[in-house]
Amino acid sequence: MESTVAQRLEALHNLQKIDSRLDSIIKVRGALPEEVQDLEDEIAGYETRVEKFNTDILSLEDEIKKHKENIKESEKLIKKYQEQQMNVRNNREYDAITKELELQDLEIQVSKKKIGEAEIRIETKNRDLDELKDVVKDRKKDLDNKQAELQNIVAESEAEEAKLNNDREKALKKIEDRLAKSYSKIRVNAKNGLAVVLVKRGACGGCFNVVPPQRQADIREKKKLIVCEHCGRILAGVEDEIEEEVAPKKKRSTKAS
Ligand SMILES: [Zn+2]
Repeated sequence: MESTVAQRLEALHNLQKIDSRLDSIIKVRGALPEEVQDLEDEIAGYETRVEKFNTDILSLEDEIKKHKENIKESEKLIKKYQEQQMNVRNNREYDAITKELELQDLEIQVSKKKIGEAEIRIETKNRDLDELKDVVKDRKKDLDNKQAELQNIVAESEAEEAKLNNDREKALKKIEDRLAKSYSKIRVNAKNGLAVVLVKRGACGGCFNVVPPQRQADIREKKKLIVCEHCGRILAGVEDEIEEEVAPKKKRSTKAS
């Protein structure tokens, strides 16, 4: 069954109304979905840094442990050398042991210095870690708030969105594929998402350029599909200033009650 131009225009205009409403639902969510994603990424980054700090601290603690073992080892040797020194048979042996003792003493000093340095680094890292954990806590709070906000907004429009998507399917069935494709193409390229508009106050409802009276008359006739010469949008009709401005208001108030 071939549809008339008037029927096709009506179907297109209907589809446009559904899509515009869907657009405004998505618009209400605004930047929230993106902000939630950004926060999640930011927190993941901080958490990687927290992990890195923890690994660094662990390896510094390992270092301290090793130096403490070295000190114990040196102390054992010192004890052993001191006992040997009591039983030396000559000065040469005595001096050789003295040198060993000095060497072990030096080893202990080096280890102690390294332990001190590692402890300072651990302290610094722990301080940074505490700061970082505070930041993560704050960001997580932000994220919770934004997620809740987004969920509320989505929940508010969920039912309407489902209905609109359902209506959209039905509306699309009344439009030939080729025409639906053109519609989508115009819509994608239009900044305000409008592919089908009415002539309002003598101008295209999409780009606001003047539509000449003769063209307006052709549009009213609905004998063929007419697009705006300036923006390429489909002109579905000419809005009657008085009637059209009253009618939507009436509709809204009955819907609201
Ligand atoms: Zn236009």
